[in-house]
Amino acid sequence: MLSYRHAFHAGNHADVLKHLVLVLTLDYYLRKDKPFWYIDTHAGGGLYQLSSAEAQKTREFAQGIQTLWKASDIPEALEPYRQQIRALNPGTKLNYYPGSPWLAANLLRNTDQLRLFELHPSDFTALNQNLGSDKRVHVSKQDGLKGLLGLLPPITRRAVTLIDPSYELKTDYNDVISTLSKAHQRFATGTYLLWYPVIERQRVKQMATALQQTGIPGILQLEYCPLADSTGMGMTGSGLFIINPPWLLAGQMQTLLPWLNQQMAHGNGHFTVAYITPEKNT
Ligand code: SAM
Repeated sequence: MLSYRHAFHAGNHADVLKHLVLVLTLDYYLRKDKPFWYIDTHAGGGLYQLSSAEAQKTREFAQGIQTLWKASDIPEALEPYRQQIRALNPGTKLNYYPGSPWLAANLLRNTDQLRLFELHPSDFTALNQNLGSDKRVHVSKQDGLKGLLGLLPPITRRAVTLIDPSYELKTDYNDVISTLSKAHQRFATGTYLLWYPVIERQRVKQMATALQQTGIPGILQLEYCPLADSTGMGMTGSGLFIINPPWLLAGQMQTLLPWLNQQMAHGNGHFTVAYITPEKNT
């Protein structure tokens, strides 16, 4: 039985990092005319109301998106992400926060398509209500990792995949790596974004080592932690491992992460931008 509900965490620092990277990646894919697919293996409900009982219970958004909403003089590379938040909240108050499928649906063109997977019955219903009537969107109540492998290679030969589990099951940590390895064998040129929480540093190191053992070249690690590493404190930060990242992304994040760290942790957090496997031609 799944108990994780993203509504408690929508708009927190981890969502800011993940969605910023997603928007920059989609923005890059949109520069070419050729259509592509966006695949979201763990899609969530798609849209979140920040006045809901769930969001208000944790108020995690206050340290995340709320700090950017108020900020002035934001870096240029952050604009496409903030524009999405503004489009959802045309007034002065921040009422809604978009999930990853919502962001993708708003950015993609008529010729692009979205393939979304969500297992939780309530989130599946919400996702269908929020995005199901869009002709470009296919929503499946199916395991997203199995579903992903069934879609590859996509007929478009271009795709961005977000793998964003809740890691409720300890087996998720191994399953995401073996799925990525198989996905890369079927479709080596796609971009894959694998999100992870920083709860125990050792677990993150194990994921990086397992990814290095797949032999996949050029994997970029982006991480942002508002809190120092710890054990027993819950999530202190989060990151993404990215296969075939847009070539501009590492440089953009080098500029953005110090700024985000000021906004979200008064400069007290820490971050990483590093390739964990060598690029193909090096
Ligand atoms: N990607 C979303 C976003 O950024 O807005 C958030 C997703 S949330 C972290 C993870 C979601 O995965 C939850 O809604 C959960 O119900 C769903 N889930 C858990 N196991 C799943 C599985 N095996 N296949 C598909 N969805 C699953």
